[in-house]
Amino acid sequence: MDLPKLAIAALGGTVSMQARNAGEGVIPTVSGETLLASLPELSTLARVTVETLGLLPSASLDFEFLLSVLSWASFQVKQGAVGVVITQGTDTLEESAQFFDYLWPHDTPLVLTGAMRSAAQPGADGPANLLDACRVALADGSRQRGVQVVMNGEIHRANSVRKTDSLALQAFSSPVTGPVGLLIEDCVRYLRPPVQRAVLPLPQQTTQKVALLEASLSADTLLLENILALGYDGLVIAGFGAGHVSQRWATNIERIAEKIPVIIATRTGSGSTAQATYGFDGSEMDLIRKGALMSGFLCPRKARILLWLLIGCQRQHELTRYLKGNIQHRCD
Ligand code: ASP
Repeated sequence: MDLPKLAIAALGGTVSMQARNAGEGVIPTVSGETLLASLPELSTLARVTVETLGLLPSASLDFEFLLSVLSWASFQVKQGAVGVVITQGTDTLEESAQFFDYLWPHDTPLVLTGAMRSAAQPGADGPANLLDACRVALADGSRQRGVQVVMNGEIHRANSVRKTDSLALQAFSSPVTGPVGLLIEDCVRYLRPPVQRAVLPLPQQTTQKVALLEASLSADTLLLENILALGYDGLVIAGFGAGHVSQRWATNIERIAEKIPVIIATRTGSGSTAQATYGFDGSEMDLIRKGALMSGFLCPRKARILLWLLIGCQRQHELTRYLKGNIQHRCD
């Protein structure tokens, strides 16, 4: 039987980590080839090619490297892969997934996974997550769904997934919406149909700087006062509640928004920013009046990725349009 072609890349993270010596912390040393050796059943599902593109903790991945991974993945599709799987650290998985999703032009599934327990730990979840991710990448129902994250038997859209626990096995969730699908008895089961995605052109520049600042009680304004002088091209604020800041921050944001795009998201970890509820100084209505844009359901980190990519392809003037998909303007 002619099995479908599946391409897998390893970038590092806990899934690729082990300790060199007892008592030392785990570090990424395990290649993609070695990861696959723990999954002999995969050879009955697909013709697999595997490459180790990096062995990094995911905190040290960067956008330039992810662009090179994206071009590797696109090349695999051109070479006939019906699905692509990438393993990486979970700490920044939600950001890589969103980054790839904005740039992935193919109907072919691109699936990201990782592990919360390293290979030598009892109950290591890496092999199960990788096998699940491969099943998702091979499933017909995964086409036209862009980039998805598979962890702990759940399938999440790149747009909604977040790491919401630092160490638990069930570390990933999609607040408000829940997972888009599940793996049940080795089968991929989608709970909802695919949604239309915004796909951006590749950035022509990568030197732009977008700052992300979180509002906190009684925070000073020193960084805000210096954002423009420091040469930032965009600013994202993880605001209080439904997208709020202090009066002092609001005054600074007005001045900054005259020069560079400013997005206000919520720091709460779940839910949407408001548009037309609160009117106090520093509220969402005040900040909109002062020139800032609200991110809706898009979390601060993903909003930063959107702005970075839009500036990179000179489309920052279309920011409102791209944010709109994350905002519910009307009642159904
Ligand atoms: N704790 C991380 C992980 O789950 C380390 C990393 O993100 O590289 O992989």
